[in-house]
Parts: sequence; C-alpha cells; structure tokens
Amino acid sequence: MRIVLFPRFRRLLLDIRLKSTAATSKMQVFTQKRNPITGSTEWDVQHEDYDYHQEIARSAFADMLHDTERNKKYHRALQLAIEKMHDAGKKANVLDIGTGTGLLSIMAVRCGADTVTACEAFKPMAECCSKILQRNGVADKITVIPKRSTDLTVGENGDMKEKANILVTEVFDTELIGEGALSTFAHAHQYLLEEECVVVPDSAVIYAQVVECPTLQKWNKLNDLADEDLKVILRTPQKMKDCAGSAAVHDVQLSQLPRHSFKELSDQIPVFYYDWSGRSPVDCRRTVKQQFTVTNTGRAQIVFMWWELNMDMEGKILLSCAPWWTHPDADLSSERPQDSIPWRDHWMQGVYYLPQEITVQKESDVTLVSCQDEYSLWFYLEDEKTKHKHYKRPICECGVHMALSRTHVSYLNDGKRSKKLLAQIKDDLVNDAIVLDLNGSSLLGLAAAKMGAKTVYILENTNLNIGILNDYIQANNLENVVILPDVTDELTEKVTNVVCDPNFSSAILPWENLKMAYLLYKYKSKLNESVKIVPESCELWAMPVEFQDLHKIRIPLGSCEGIDMTIFDDLVESSRIISDAEIEAQPLWEYPCKCGGLPRRLIEVNMNDLRVTYACDGDHTVADTESELSQPVNGFVVWATWSVGGKPTSAGPGEWPRVGERVIWDMHTRQAVKILKKSKIVSVTDKWSYQVACDLEKGQFNLNIDWAKEET
Ligand code: SAH
Ligand code: ZN
Repeated sequence: MRIVLFPRFRRLLLDIRLKSTAATSKMQVFTQKRNPITGSTEWDVQHEDYDYHQEIARSAFADMLHDTERNKKYHRALQLAIEKMHDAGKKANVLDIGTGTGLLSIMAVRCGADTVTACEAFKPMAECCSKILQRNGVADKITVIPKRSTDLTVGENGDMKEKANILVTEVFDTELIGEGALSTFAHAHQYLLEEECVVVPDSAVIYAQVVECPTLQKWNKLNDLADEDLKVILRTPQKMKDCAGSAAVHDVQLSQLPRHSFKELSDQIPVFYYDWSGRSPVDCRRTVKQQFTVTNTGRAQIVFMWWELNMDMEGKILLSCAPWWTHPDADLSSERPQDSIPWRDHWMQGVYYLPQEITVQKESDVTLVSCQDEYSLWFYLEDEKTKHKHYKRPICECGVHMALSRTHVSYLNDGKRSKKLLAQIKDDLVNDAIVLDLNGSSLLGLAAAKMGAKTVYILENTNLNIGILNDYIQANNLENVVILPDVTDELTEKVTNVVCDPNFSSAILPWENLKMAYLLYKYKSKLNESVKIVPESCELWAMPVEFQDLHKIRIPLGSCEGIDMTIFDDLVESSRIISDAEIEAQPLWEYPCKCGGLPRRLIEVNMNDLRVTYACDGDHTVADTESELSQPVNGFVVWATWSVGGKPTSAGPGEWPRVGERVIWDMHTRQAVKILKKSKIVSVTDKWSYQVACDLEKGQFNLNIDWAKEET
C-alpha cells in the first residue's frame, strides 16, 4: 500500500524524518535526522506534527490554488452539473472528495447546490477547511468529514444520509492516477453515488509522444567517462547499460526543455481514456498496443506523457497539461510560446525512459506498448526486430537507479565538468601517487586509478554506492582501488593526492557538499603539507532574482476565486516556521527567472587552508548603479562555485548573469532558493543581508538571507 499524503508533491519532500514514539512532552517528539555533512544520524526534538508541517510547508498546495485555469474550469463545470440536475427537476446533492481548503465545495454552494458533503483524508487540512468555511459564512451549508472517501458510510446513521448525484473531485497528479484516483472513483460509484449522476471532471485522456532526447537520457543512464581528448577512461558496466531503469515517473517542466534538445519521433498518441462518469468501468490494470508511423528517423529513448481532462459531459471545457508544442492554447507565433500557456507546478509532464533504446526510421511502423496499474504508467516500444518477452513494470537491477537520484546521474554524465576535474587530477598526479577520494558517489577516484595512480583509497560506507564502485572496478579491471569507511592515520600520512567530486549523493542543498571540507578537516592534521587537493576551493554566491512563476508555489493566496483563504495562508506560514523549510532546493533550469541584482560572494572555503569555523555576515546593495537594477525582486538564489585548477565551475548560472536578463542555470544540479512572500520594487540603495555560520568540526552549516532591516 502506498501511504503518501500528497503524492502530487512528492518530489518536494526531500528529507525523510523517522518519527519515534518517545515523546518528551505532548507537543514535541524526537525525530531522527541525518546530517548530510557528517553522514551521521542525530536525534532532534521536534514539534509533534513536524511531518505534517513539513508536508504543508513544502507542498505545492498554494500553487494548485493559484492555478486560475483549473479553478475556473472546475467552477464552470460544476455550474453546468448543478443546472442539469435542477433542469431535470432534481435536487443537486454534491459530494466533494478531497476538499482540501473547501474551494470546490464553496463553489458548489455558490452555484446553488442543495446539499454539499466534503471529505478530506488529511486531518490538518480538514480542520483548516472547517475554519475557512466558517470565515466565509458557509459552514452551515457544507458538511465536512475528516475521512478518506473510501471510509465514508451512507445511511441513516452514516456520514451521508443519502447518496450524492454530483461528484466533484480533484485527486490527480502529474501521472493522473498516482494519488489513487482509480480506486477513489470506483468506490464512489459503487457506494456513494446515484446511478444517474454527473461527475466533474467527466473523463480524461493520457497522451504519449515518443522522442529522442539525449539531454534527458543523461538523467537515466551513466555514460562511459571520457577525458578531454574524448579518450574513454572508465567504461560503464554492461549491466548498467542494459538496466531497464527506475519505473518511477520523472516529472519535468517539459516546456522549459530547450527545443533543440529533443526530436519528436511520433505525433501525440492518445493511449488511455478514463471515463470518470461511471458509464463504463475503468480497469485497474491495462496494457495497450498501438501501432504508429514514425515521423522522424532517430533513436527512440523516451516517452513524454501528459493528460487532459474533459470537465463536462459535452466536452466543451477542456483542461490540458500538454507542453507548449502540442498545447491547444499555445501561441506558436510568439517568441516564447511556452509563456503563452498556463503555468503550474502541481501538474507537470511525465518523462518515461524506455527500457530499451531502438533506432526507428521515418515512415516505418512501430508499436507503442502502454501499461498502467493502479497508481502508475510505463511504456515499451517494439519494432520488427525488437519484441519484449513481458511488459512488466521496469525495475532497476544495476543499483544505480536505486542509489542515485536522477539529478545525480545527470551530474555524473556532465562531460564538461568531469573533463575539467579529470584534467586537473591528471596534472596533479605524482609518481607512485597515493590518492584519497572523499566521495564514493562519484567516479573520480576510479578514474585516478585508471590514469596512473599507484593506489586509490575511496571513502564510502553506503552499501549501494559501494556496489556501484565494485561493478566499475570489475568492468574496468582496476586492481589498485580500496574502498574504506574511514582512513587510518598511518594511511592518511601516505596520501599524495586528495580528490573529491563536489557533489555527494547525500547532498540536497549546495552547501551540503561542504562535506568535502568537513572530511578534509578531520584528516587535516595527518595529511602531508605537500598534498594536492582537487578542487581547491568552494565559494557560495547569492543573487536577488525575479521568478517568472516559481514564487506561486509559496506566496500567500489572500483570496482565491473570491474566497477568503487567509486561514490557509496562516497554516502554511506557521508550518514553515515549525519545519524550517524556508530555503529549498530547486532545479532552476525548469523555472525561468531574471537576474534582479548583482551576484555577490558570501563565503569562500579554501581546501588548502581550512579553519574550524567560518562566520560571515554582511549587507549588500541590490545594485551599484541604476542601470544594474531590475524590477521587481521576489526571491534569492544561492549556489556554489568550485575552483578546479584556478578555473571556477559553477553549480549555478552557466554564464555570468546580466541584470534584467534571463539566467541560464546549470541543468545538472539544484540551487538553493528562498522565495519572498512579497515581491519588492527595489532601488539602488536597497540592501539585503546574509549570515553564514559553518563549523567544520561539528559539520554544521547555517545560512540566512533576507532584506536588511531598515536602519532607524
Ligand atoms: N479539492 C481541493 C484540493 C485538491 S488536492 C482543490 O481543488 O483545491 C487533493 C486533496 O484530496 C488532498 O488534500 C488529499 O489529501 C485529498 N484526497 C485524495 N484522495 C482522497 C480520498 N480518496 N478521500 C479523501 N481525500 C482525498
Ligand atoms: Zn538500474
């Protein structure tokens, strides 16, 4: 069974905390928290409902409510459904499954529904809903039941006196059915709804498009590691090349993908139809084979997926999640057609990596096999030569897809960066080099072993990562590599070179890669003075920005469709404080933003001259001159720049940002983002302030960034 409160927002739930039963008081619990820098697990006293709060604070609930197209289309379809009942001389009895803030129930009341029952499985949300109803003066018109719809009872003593004849529900995620829509609808039709009922939405269609996209393929499979001269240094083990990969959908803002980075090999293909109205049953498991004619010659690597909802029975109101190039409302003549369609983060598009890549010829016929179970989708592709024995949901058999996040895999495939690191390591290697690699979730140590080091010691203690390293060792016949959980003093003294890819699989925020400095500090006293270290330093930079859309996931709603939502805003705000989720990691290449002021350096950590603590704070003006101002500012971004052979490699902007212009972000890492609750019109004298505190002995790091307090 899958128990996730908001699966729609799962990619935002980054650190998983285990709750223990040992509570100190009613309000606080011990939670186990892994320190990403030290790697150790620490007990932390947290608010009792910490998990809830983190979920609320990090969820995209607000973004969903900011989705005006969604709200308006639900409203219009509800209006039609209620009119239909009234026209037939019947009462309109509405059931709202998964009411959240109560939005759709309040709309139903306003459209003249006779009775409204709202259920919500997530208790804190149900409580919040009741307060919102009260604030908006509709508490007596809506019955809120804090239950999962599948636990509702109908009858004299039940949750509902009688069955409803209108169902309105929005329980869809990027994959459409990942929030359990199939069982929710099936149960509702069997137990909660009259035979003659209207359902909003009426139906849905899932579309698939087969593409070649080497850019995204980097997120899926590790390529051979090559040096500057394109000479292969490390071969990827065959089982990793052959692995069917992880089945989990990769949700991506496909409209932000550079147009030249993918080639369409098929038109959009409608693969699954979902009749939510109850007129025809929806199977929990389906496999559909569809032959189609290839539109371009290329390597079929990936299936893009999106869906659309038919909100009403007549098919007049359509809500599409298509990317811009096939979106019904896109203005293809505009300079940036992706800006001409509604933006949303709670529904993106799905990327499915085909278990086996095949080359297809234009005009040839191939078969797309689309599979669906209760919660998810997956795809296979077949041609004359390639047939599959089964269509099971792919599972990872190579370890990579279990050990490493997709972003991490893409990082390891980022040839530009690895070539720089490899060139420097090659330069630095002395005769009979003894190399210490501090990061076992990278391939640098193995590469050093291949490039002539005498012995390489790799520091790693997670079994999954060790498994990957061992497979590489075998596939590349490396005999001079030792994997260790820790190094002895004796060994440390012999080390001539330290290498560390500054991206640990355990790191989420950029500064968590200062784990390198933490480890170096630990061994510092025993390391030789002349030891060579790659990379040499880390700088953290920050910059004010104007997000085009991303701020919508966090800014308060105030009101939504004329409904006072300030109670919900307060809940999010207090959850934010309790769960300390103010700064979050986001893949900014998916979220356009403009540079809103000059980038400034916050801190530099020199690996050759480490100190036990770093404490830096200060104020920066947004700009030095009028011409460097851009309006308005609604967030700050922080990123790391690592120095390799005197050359900076940025895990932030690819080129130096120019004020007022769109920033091009590194696609292979996530950046730290602070979204401001209010956007601000800035002047040259406006200042922002920051405080950074870093303790290498304890492995602690803290960063604050905000507008400077006005001096009085
Ligand atoms: N209807 C609201 C909220 C949509 S988000 C709106 O449109 O703004 C989906 C909500 O449904 C979440 O709060 C989730 O907890 C809830 N949910 C999902 N499946 C449910 C079910 N079967 N029964 C009750 N609540 C459910
Ligand atoms: Zn795998």
